Amino acid sequence: MPAVLGFEGSANKIGVGVVRDGTVLANPRRTYVTPPGTGFLPGDTARHHRAVILDLLEEALTEAGLTSQDIDCIAYTKGPGMGAPLVSVAVVARTVAQLWNKPLLGVNHCIGHIEMGRLITGATSPTVLYVSGGNTQVIAYSEHRYRIFGETIDIAVGNCLDRFARVLKISNDPSPGYNIEQMAKRGKKLVELPYTVKGMDVSFSGILSFIEDAAQRMLATGECTPEDLCFSLQETVFAMLVEITERAMAHCGSQEALIVGGVGCNLRLQEMMETMCQERGARLFATDERFCIDNGAMIAQAGWEMFQAGHRTPLSDSGITQRYRTDEVEVTWRD
Ligand code: MG
Repeated sequence: MPAVLGFEGSANKIGVGVVRDGTVLANPRRTYVTPPGTGFLPGDTARHHRAVILDLLEEALTEAGLTSQDIDCIAYTKGPGMGAPLVSVAVVARTVAQLWNKPLLGVNHCIGHIEMGRLITGATSPTVLYVSGGNTQVIAYSEHRYRIFGETIDIAVGNCLDRFARVLKISNDPSPGYNIEQMAKRGKKLVELPYTVKGMDVSFSGILSFIEDAAQRMLATGECTPEDLCFSLQETVFAMLVEITERAMAHCGSQEALIVGGVGCNLRLQEMMETMCQERGARLFATDERFCIDNGAMIAQAGWEMFQAGHRTPLSDSGITQRYRTDEVEVTWRD
């Protein structure tokens, strides 16, 4: 029963997880939170990760009740993500693998999300909506690849929400998206925003510019409240995501939808996806913040699948890459 240790640190979360044969034994995580109105810069984020990663490693092993000898493989996020945070974590993973004399596995972050979602929900062959601060894709598996059916052509949906939170000086603790979700519940007026679905793709940068202007104007005149804007932004961008997911499901004849990524724990998005799935006679699968927000166990789980399928990453290839598409990986562990 192989146990895999996974390191994740591609953005402002750092996590170390342990997975053994479908069981998550430990999954501690820390988040780098910056003041309202600001985002997280790569260098500062890497500094945060470096300061806590060894404590997290110890915490993960203690929680799992394992020692280094019980670990069979070290998995880490190779990409995509922010360069400096990725490097800070890859260096530790590589060092630990050499100190403990264990094989190393570089994991695609997006595939970590998908494999975690499949493990936790038991969805067998879902159409995947992957939505986070850095990624927005609709994905379906076919012939040993996770194929991208649609995606954002500019910024990620979570980045759109995060940057709007900065305009309103909404707290980044625990996350800007969570706080927008709570404010949106008190919104009463739907402000019309651009709706930008282009075939199977979506675009969020124009919506962000529009609502930034609208916020300046409409909040000054009292035409609407910050809560109304949060509500309107969520309703609009989530409707776009539901539309392209539904079209992919129709195309694939899929009866399952799975939401992964940090934006995936938004309950309003889950509710809208649920309505769409019910109308199609399909099932919706989603997870909570422990598993859909970036974490170490998702990298351990994808690593576990890869390890079992015979993958190994040689030290000479154990770097990182900021650009690493979901469909670049050959998925040898699925039929
Ligand atoms: Mg992610």
